[in-house]
Amino acid sequence: MIDRALVLGGGSAGFLAAITLAKKVPGLTVRVVRSPTIGVIGVGEGTTAAFPRHLFNYQGLDAGDFYRSVQPTWKLGIRCIWGSGPDFFYPFAEEFSRPIDGLTKKPGFYDAPEGSDWLGPTSALMSKGKVFARQPDGKPDLKTPHAFHIENELLVGYLEKVARSLGVEITDGTVTSVETGPTRASGREEAGVSALVLDTGERLTADLFVDASGFRSALLGEALGVGRVSYTDSLFCDRAVIGRWERTDEPTPAYTTAETMDHGWAWRIEHERWVNRGYVFSSSFVSDDEAEAELRRKNPKLTGDTRVVGFRSYRLETMWSGNVVGIGNASGFVEPLEATALQAICVQCSTLADVLADSSREPTVSLVAHYNRYNTTQWDDIRDFLSIHFRYNDKLDTPFWKACRSDVAIHGAQPVVDFYRENGPSTLLAGLILAPTNSFGFQGYYSMLAGQRVPCDRTYDAPAGEQQAWSQWIGKVGDWAAAGMDTAEVIGFFRGVGWWPGG
Ligand SMILES: Cc1cc2nc3c(=O)[nH]c(=O)nc-3n(C[C@H](O)[C@H](O)[C@H](O)COP(=O)(O)OP(=O)(O)OC[C@H]3O[C@@H](n4cnc5c(N)ncnc54)[C@H](O)[C@@H]3O)c2cc1C
Repeated sequence: MIDRALVLGGGSAGFLAAITLAKKVPGLTVRVVRSPTIGVIGVGEGTTAAFPRHLFNYQGLDAGDFYRSVQPTWKLGIRCIWGSGPDFFYPFAEEFSRPIDGLTKKPGFYDAPEGSDWLGPTSALMSKGKVFARQPDGKPDLKTPHAFHIENELLVGYLEKVARSLGVEITDGTVTSVETGPTRASGREEAGVSALVLDTGERLTADLFVDASGFRSALLGEALGVGRVSYTDSLFCDRAVIGRWERTDEPTPAYTTAETMDHGWAWRIEHERWVNRGYVFSSSFVSDDEAEAELRRKNPKLTGDTRVVGFRSYRLETMWSGNVVGIGNASGFVEPLEATALQAICVQCSTLADVLADSSREPTVSLVAHYNRYNTTQWDDIRDFLSIHFRYNDKLDTPFWKACRSDVAIHGAQPVVDFYRENGPSTLLAGLILAPTNSFGFQGYYSMLAGQRVPCDRTYDAPAGEQQAWSQWIGKVGDWAAAGMDTAEVIGFFRGVGWWPGG
């Protein structure tokens, strides 16, 4: 039976794992070991709607405490400066599949009325510079599906505080050697980790080790030699140059911006006090200095220091081997174009906790196999979805983008692209083409395919009556969104009530 879990790593992956295990697995004691000399990666600011679901719905953490500690801003989706057409939105809401009175087809088939760039309420809020609808009593309506922009340092500090409050023991020390040996923690005898030796001389044992050591993958990758599946045939970028400036009079929209750059793309993330920008690029096409110069040229307000972070796009061949489970960058990484790292961490943490709780801390061979299948598929799904961002973006004709359009492998995205090309944005039989576990679904795929103007055979010339009904609906949604609250108003409201309505 697994009685003691040891989490190696005190970044967002390590603390999210520790909290989830401490909260959801009765009888398990949890310890975190983190190095005072090897820092956390310190980036990771965008999230998806899976993140608040994990914290508040699955774990039941106190939302008020989170808001007060992390001071997030809200994110309803992504604004894409992408493809040769106009900018478009990818909202965290089902807008392609929503039936609308008076229309015989789903929204994606109708032309956007003049001056509108939304298909539904969430994209309308983003387009109008709003975050939430205003309720009759003046409060923001938080029901709109949303995620957060958060600063990594504040998030890690908050997670550490929650971990301590749940009785998680935190040890500062650097692992200098890893002892390996046979284990039965995966339901059968396999090679695993028997102890970690710290620079303090302490020797730590556990029944289960969670490897959240970041890119080095100290336990699964280095000690157990689990192989890596490279994603570089789909994702060519391997570095990012990051900078920020202090917000002055800029509005704070409720979306992340993803902007096409000469040799990659750049995020723009809106914090209350800071505007953060990061240029993700491929070192095969541009040097660090040239990338930094392009970022500064396109962002004249960026006058302070920048820093460069290198990465590789990959996942481990297996996420649970012997008595070691990898979570976060230690198990896989893709560039943050859809801000999926914290989402992947949340899924890994919840499936691990569920497996341990469901098996009364005695996981079986089949449960471990399912864990591995689910989590490796999760990473591959993300790789597939990102691949279509590169393969079909025809905004620029630089060598990087030409190479993307001719060489990016789209793997599991191919059936969705084929279906879209033949049927247009039809959402029929969605569950047969994309597994229900695919976190992007047709909504995500069609936002990107239609937004990038990928041609399809099936278009719809709507009769005048239908086009009129559509224009009226879009107009109504636009008016509703325009009457909503912007980020500054919602922050003002939250401050007034002590950062949480009722808190
Ligand atoms: C450029 C870039 C942009 C990103 N943007 C986003 C984003 O917008 N959204 C998103 O969700 N994610 C994003 N990410 C990913 C995100 O930053 C990480 O996935 C997330 O923070 C988890 O990191 P981690 O905890 O796995 O690793 P880290 O933060 O690197 O933590 C590793 C931990 O392991 C410890 N450790 C390592 N070796 C040892 C040792 N030998 N002994 C003891 N302790 C050890 C360290 O001390 C540290 O505590 C981005 C990543 C990059 C590179």
